[in-house]
Amino acid sequence: MDRFAQIRQSAYDSNMQLPKLGLIIFTFGNVSVADRNLGVFAIKPSGVPYELLTPESMVIVDFKGKVVDGKLRPSSDTLTHAVLYQQWNNINAIAHTHSTYATAWAQALRDVPIYGTTHADHLTCDIPCAPPMEDNMIGGNYEYETGFQIVNYMKWKELNYDEVEMILVGSHGPFAWAHTPEKAVYNIAVLEEVAKMAYLTERIQPHSSRLKETLIRKHYERKHGPGSYYGQK
Ligand SMILES: [Zn+2]
Repeated sequence: MDRFAQIRQSAYDSNMQLPKLGLIIFTFGNVSVADRNLGVFAIKPSGVPYELLTPESMVIVDFKGKVVDGKLRPSSDTLTHAVLYQQWNNINAIAHTHSTYATAWAQALRDVPIYGTTHADHLTCDIPCAPPMEDNMIGGNYEYETGFQIVNYMKWKELNYDEVEMILVGSHGPFAWAHTPEKAVYNIAVLEEVAKMAYLTERIQPHSSRLKETLIRKHYERKHGPGSYYGQK
């Protein structure tokens, strides 16, 4: 019995969601799923088309980025995932895409402003955009440094990774994470949708103002606060 079977299956299911949700074409993007007890994560193999992926093809890697099990080479973004797992103990899944609207904001080097309640249902701040990587980081261990770019920028902005589960990396694209693979995929899809809405908002009204504070609080707390009442629970 493959002791990694569960995370392999979970990583496979999550990766397959990306093209289904219209977040991916060709092989852009990846999802990984960690098992904290085993100290490893399962990630998509590099450059394999989605229709050829299988649960068994998912590569098992430790939190230093070293392959532990698997026949194929892991995603080229593996070290970015490894750094985030290493630095942030509470996350168990990471998703990365080059989805169109989120990537467009990343290329414009802009935070996605909080314009409406869809955004406020998920987070109370603009979606942060980390600056593009410095030349020495690009020339060095690029994917590894991308991980640190994310971690350091979140720290610098004083954002808690448990609350803000998404970011844009300038000139590159979106990353999202969560406690569960389902939530990481959900977050990367929400990020794309909110980025699209914000883009359209500015097209319609270039001087749109940010959502007012009372609505931001109200919507966030409706879903997340101690008195939350959204959904069935
Ligand atoms: Zn990428």
